[in-house]
Amino acid sequence: MRRLVGLALPLLAVGCSLPLTRPAPGGPIPVACCSVSGAPVEITYLGIGGWVIRRGDVVLLTAPLFSDPSLLRTGLDEVAPDTARIDGMLDTLGVDLGDVSAILSGHGHYDHLVDVPFVITRHAPGARFLLNRTSAHQIAAWGLEDRLVVVDDSAGDARTAGRWIQVGDGLRVMPLHSAHAPQFAGNLLFHGRGDRDMARRSRTAAEWLDGESFAYLVDFLEGGRVVFRLYYQDAVAEAPAGFVADSLLWPEGPDRRRVDVAILVPSTYAEVRSRAARTYGGATVSGHRAS
Ligand SMILES: [Zn+2]
Repeated sequence: MRRLVGLALPLLAVGCSLPLTRPAPGGPIPVACCSVSGAPVEITYLGIGGWVIRRGDVVLLTAPLFSDPSLLRTGLDEVAPDTARIDGMLDTLGVDLGDVSAILSGHGHYDHLVDVPFVITRHAPGARFLLNRTSAHQIAAWGLEDRLVVVDDSAGDARTAGRWIQVGDGLRVMPLHSAHAPQFAGNLLFHGRGDRDMARRSRTAAEWLDGESFAYLVDFLEGGRVVFRLYYQDAVAEAPAGFVADSLLWPEGPDRRRVDVAILVPSTYAEVRSRAARTYGGATVSGHRAS
């Protein structure tokens, strides 16, 4: 396997006019500017499916992977968070997750979840973790139940709006029924659902089942008005999986808005230009590991 993109803001589609910045040693660098008033949006890539999206004091994290176990290890050996590597990479990147208010996970495969319980415990003490029901069962042994928000019953789809999950005054999140494309020779590996809490921490990649896949619509709010809208899909799938109901997008108003930035996490380059991206972007940013 190789990385699709490196540890930097990797790909922005042309045509975007947003107050985006990207991180640099001397401070954030404006990427483009602007139809959104107020604070700029800073997007930092952490690798695989991990991104930090910061606007003012509102901070969102998508489930990151730092441990990055080898393909051999995922097939034959134990998979566990490499805590020294997690601490070291965050330090190297200069990323502080202390003010993250929400972490998003769309499905439960090891390359999205294996590091997250440690990240929440050590680095993001105020974050709520939005995840599917299978994943909540999967990480039960970490004792984080007060931090978890199971999203399955709030999800919308291409025809129907779901329920907004409010995270503080400045952020709301709507899960969207999605799917996970086959990731290996036409097969979907580690597929299944869990219906009871695991008594111990998962040890192998095969124990990290995907559960139902969700995409997310995320609104950054100011005075109750949507000022920036993000779309996040950590397993790119064929339409209409992960689509947003038209009634949420237009006509534009205080509560409706087109997507400003879509973050997609595909398994292959071919998936980057998914229909979801073409429909909703704004800007499209992609990451993951590619085969
Ligand atoms: Zn997956």
